[in-house]
Amino acid sequence: MTGYEEEAVEARQRDSNTAALCNEIVARCSVAPGADFEAAYARVRALSTVERDAALVRIRQLSLGDVVHLQVACPSCGHKNEIDFKLSELPLPEAPVPTEVEVELPAHALPPEPAARTALARTPTAGDQEDLLSAGLESESARRTFLLARVLVRYAGGEGPFDEAFVRALPIAARAAIERAIESALPDLDLGMAVQCPACGAGFESPFDVAAFFLPR
Ligand SMILES: [Zn+2]
Repeated sequence: MTGYEEEAVEARQRDSNTAALCNEIVARCSVAPGADFEAAYARVRALSTVERDAALVRIRQLSLGDVVHLQVACPSCGHKNEIDFKLSELPLPEAPVPTEVEVELPAHALPPEPAARTALARTPTAGDQEDLLSAGLESESARRTFLLARVLVRYAGGEGPFDEAFVRALPIAARAAIERAIESALPDLDLGMAVQCPACGAGFESPFDVAAFFLPR
């Protein structure tokens, strides 16, 4: 990372769309400092979220080292925790992430006389994640509908693309089965981390800290 990325991080630090920032940093770092990164950005958006995160971790290790130092206040007692964690301990995937998953649909969720008993979905990309955050949807189920409409390729023999009205009308068990299949195909490289407060013992999840991750301290 150079001063170009440092300025980009600072400019977008308070933007809640951390996926957009992460995509931009990976794109910028794959071209010469300050060069046009539009084509690279499109390539990064097409990566799976896991591949994008792996690139991001590598960039961070090369730029600022392996240890991320976090200061997080405990939500229960307010104690300020100082935490160091090593990026090399994150479970980076060893094999390529599948681009599609086939799902056996639950028998009771099938339409009458289905042409097939399976669904096919592609795994979400870094671009899907960015657009999902941009959409600013309030509820978990609305976010699920947004993402399912994008990734569903085939359903019970019918060919996509499918719109949000279609995936909203699907039986809840079928939606859950497709999501489970995607989740198990896509290892979750969580850049947030579980913390246990040494002062009061409360466990909590520290969110991904953009400044601690990207900016020198
Ligand atoms: Zn505490």
